[in-house]
Amino acid sequence: MRLELSNNPNLLLFTSNLFPATFNAIGLKHYAIIGIGGNVGESVLLFERVIRYLQQGKRINVIQTAPLLKNPPFGFTEQPDFINSVIKIETNLSPFQLLKYLLWVEKRFGRKRTFKNAPRTLDLDIIFYDKLNLRTKRLIVPHPHFHERESVMIPLRFLKD
Ligand code: AMP
Repeated sequence: MRLELSNNPNLLLFTSNLFPATFNAIGLKHYAIIGIGGNVGESVLLFERVIRYLQQGKRINVIQTAPLLKNPPFGFTEQPDFINSVIKIETNLSPFQLLKYLLWVEKRFGRKRTFKNAPRTLDLDIIFYDKLNLRTKRLIVPHPHFHERESVMIPLRFLKD
């Protein structure tokens, strides 16, 4: 399914099997919103594998995903369009444990294993963690500049409170 975004012809909102989707809550302590993005390879298939993978662990439970947004790159523009979405999870990981886990998942799924230092195909960011405000060297929450990025703000509109 494709949904038109009348205000910007470069943006395309679309859906897949697991974007959007809702899942049962299991009552973990904290909520977080994770941004997911990529522009190398089959991003949608990769994102769906990531959701299934996250659902297998006991310390994270995905409760909602938003539709997908295809959007042009900014900064270095000579590269393919990005696909982005946001994922609402419940978790009993602390913010730093969650960051560590997401970086591990990025590594697990995000690198082509064909050659050393191949491009990263998966970006996972912590957008919100409960109502936490945190500014450290390794982790800033809410994610800096998220409110300026359509790639986050548009999918975010589709998540329930
Ligand atoms: P990037 O690959 O550009 O998304 O940068 C990843 C690095 O950003 C991580 O190694 C983190 O230490 C740092 N970082 C700071 N704040 C956040 C956040 N809210 N979510 C994810 N990474 C963050």
